Amino acid sequence: MKLVTSPVTKFPGTVGIKDPIPLNACVEWEAGLAECQPTPCSEGRAILTQFWKAPDKSKDEISAEYEAHFTTCVESGGKCKLGLTDTAAQARMIKPARACVEEWKIEGFDLANPPGSPKAARSRFIGWLITEISNVYNEAEAAGDPNE
Ligand SMILES: [Zn+2]
Repeated sequence: MKLVTSPVTKFPGTVGIKDPIPLNACVEWEAGLAECQPTPCSEGRAILTQFWKAPDKSKDEISAEYEAHFTTCVESGGKCKLGLTDTAAQARMIKPARACVEEWKIEGFDLANPPGSPKAARSRFIGWLITEISNVYNEAEAAGDPNE
């Protein structure tokens, strides 16, 4: 378990993050993150693959092409998906965060029934929590060969 201390005055205390994070919690975590991001339809994806498939084409041109497609696709009810708004993304990540937490000692913030306001403190606190969990999840592999 990795113990981290909240930097947010409104929600003081400590969180014990599971270390290692169980595999099924990682699956939930990644599914949550993916839902927060905008996702392209197959046509949109084809435009984006030009970044590596058409090295002669300028990156700005490809981005503009994709942006134009994405906007029309979303507006016309196509299959490109918008990501979540910041607040919705924070709400979406609470459940996967819960799966990564072993010990919760935060004053004023119930992980089972999280407060939405005040907005700035909530936003900062959930952002901090997501970063701390990501740090445990994405910890770099120690250099060197363990068999040496
Ligand atoms: Zn599309």
